[in-house]
Amino acid sequence: MPSIAAFRQELQRAVSLRAEYVVLHPGSAKSSLRKTAAKTFVQSLLEAAKGTRLDGLRVLIENTAGQGNVLGSSLEELAEILAGLWEEVPAGVCIDTAHLFAAGYGIHTAHGLNETVRQLDATVGLGNVRLIHANDSKAAFASHCDRHEHIGEGKIGVAAFRRIVRHPKLRTIPFICETPVDSPNDDRRNVEMMRCLAAGGKMVGRKQKAAVGQSEQGKRQWARGKRK
Ligand SMILES: [Zn+2]
Repeated sequence: MPSIAAFRQELQRAVSLRAEYVVLHPGSAKSSLRKTAAKTFVQSLLEAAKGTRLDGLRVLIENTAGQGNVLGSSLEELAEILAGLWEEVPAGVCIDTAHLFAAGYGIHTAHGLNETVRQLDATVGLGNVRLIHANDSKAAFASHCDRHEHIGEGKIGVAAFRRIVRHPKLRTIPFICETPVDSPNDDRRNVEMMRCLAAGGKMVGRKQKAAVGQSEQGKRQWARGKRK
């Protein structure tokens, strides 16, 4: 559990950057009960915010995969934390797709996505979802393991991301990729992939594209060799 001083520093840093949002993870319940740990998290954050000029900064609590005793893997728990904050601090939530999936929300199927959106609205309220962290998952469904993957190359998959980014109730929410960077252009490629899917495109995976690129290059090198 981060200390009040650490929270305060985080808030002040965000304010000095004139950030619109600061995304915080809800901590964990080490030896205490989950309910108590969630209350302690809320109280520490409120204490940190006291006397700090937030200047329009909004605190977003991110859902988690639920590894170990980490809080915030269920939408009900996230809603409880949010309810504890919002009377005193401008608050909202950030939803991470890889964490949702690993926590057991079946966003990889069309039915599962609709059901999750319905649950999101019934718990935290869709209006409180200010940001979506778009990440595919290396870890299996309901594994409670937090491992991000490139969009379309993990267990969530391309078809599911097309449905997610085009979902009528999600498409007005900003998406940010937090995907791995294994080679220099990976960020650009993942964002392009999301844009393409948002436009309804059927894009091949990043690796398939790279393979096509390599064989093209091979052909060109071969042609140059022949000319010499
Ligand atoms: Zn995230």
